[in-house]
Amino acid sequence: MSGEHPYDLVIVGAGVSGLCLARALLAARGPWSIALVDGARDDDAFRALSMWSEGPTALDALVRHRWRRLVVADEGGGARVVALGTHTYQTLFFAELQREVLAALRADPRHRVIDGRAGPLRTDGERVRVAVGAEELSARWGFDSRFHREELAAPDPMGALLWQRFHGVEVRCGRDAFDPTAAVFLDFRAELPAGTAFAYVLPFSAREALVELVSVAPVDAETALRRYLARVHGVEAPEVVARESGLSPLTARRFDAFDGPRVRRIGIAGGRMKASTGYALTRILDDSAAIVQGLQRRGDPMVAPPERRGYRLLDAVFLTLWARWPARMPAVFAAMFGRVSPDRVLRFLDERASAWDLVALVARLPLWPFLRALAAWVAGRALRRKS
Ligand SMILES: Cc1cc2nc3c(=O)[nH]c(=O)nc-3n(C[C@H](O)[C@H](O)[C@H](O)COP(=O)(O)OP(=O)(O)OC[C@H]3O[C@@H](n4cnc5c(N)ncnc54)[C@H](O)[C@@H]3O)c2cc1C
Repeated sequence: MSGEHPYDLVIVGAGVSGLCLARALLAARGPWSIALVDGARDDDAFRALSMWSEGPTALDALVRHRWRRLVVADEGGGARVVALGTHTYQTLFFAELQREVLAALRADPRHRVIDGRAGPLRTDGERVRVAVGAEELSARWGFDSRFHREELAAPDPMGALLWQRFHGVEVRCGRDAFDPTAAVFLDFRAELPAGTAFAYVLPFSAREALVELVSVAPVDAETALRRYLARVHGVEAPEVVARESGLSPLTARRFDAFDGPRVRRIGIAGGRMKASTGYALTRILDDSAAIVQGLQRRGDPMVAPPERRGYRLLDAVFLTLWARWPARMPAVFAAMFGRVSPDRVLRFLDERASAWDLVALVARLPLWPFLRALAAWVAGRALRRKS
């Protein structure tokens, strides 16, 4: 080791949650020195980050595209355009978030951005220690965004695990092909086994869009995307400007937020991905704000993320339905967005629904698929407990 390098805070992983936390800390202008460590991020693999919101968010300055209309289409060809009342759907680019945060950290000599693979974060009395190559960093508090896949192998009373596979192409067309005023939120017309995949389209202009295939089963995504573009958008041979791909675990499992008294897990590793949607950004922003608030108010960032048991159960039932009866999903989503105000649906998906939102959803959603999934989940839980 080439000596100890002390900081107030060390963040492992300059992915979405590491960057959002660093950005929130910088915005708060606190007295903390920050070390941000990452050794693996491939800038090209991950491009657009989207979320919906009812008001301003901490990332407003980075948002490049906003939509007030969403398209939801079931496999039968019925595409519904729903107008958002209180929400906006918005997209920013990971590379811009990364550039901004890394530049701000590098501009202040108290902070450091370290390119290297970090070892485990170890608590040693009042300090957290971590080896990065030949160096040892020490800090008062540690934040770890590394996701440990092996944790998914442990028995889980919450049940279903689905792997969401993303395969996206940013395309440019020679003629107008997209409606730039409406983002395609869920389009099940991907000609794949019903409910196992949907397309997602962010139209940046009438001729440019990020077109993504999201599937919960292995699939020849390139071919499916080409066919979807030709059949639904009339785009035959678009110029592919960029690609993105990735894999996310959809699970209602509880993830520990703490690795000891001074290490806080963040991002997916800390359970910040919403199990039923695969979206994490809003929850990551809320988590970053709560951590910064903990530091400012009590000098202690070890805040517990909110635990909403009812929503966790709903997520588990939803995932059970998707895993066991995927063919039901297009109709479930169509009913959700067709019969209920989209603002209510988005609030519900964000776990911010009011009692009235819940009443409206329960009254208008097809209950039978959910009751069957609940029964399957309860039966599975009894078996999971025995094993
Ligand atoms: C293709 C794709 C698109 C998505 N789009 C959206 C979206 O639009 N909206 C949304 O809300 N969510 C989206 N998600 C879900 C979620 O927001 C992302 O997965 C997000 O990257 C999660 O952030 P994270 O910080 O938990 O993990 P990551 O962003 O993966 O960050 C973890 C970081 O840790 C680093 N790391 C790993 N090991 C080490 C080590 N030993 N030492 C140092 N560093 C290490 C990695 O290089 C990485 O940078 C998407 C997911 C995928 C896969």
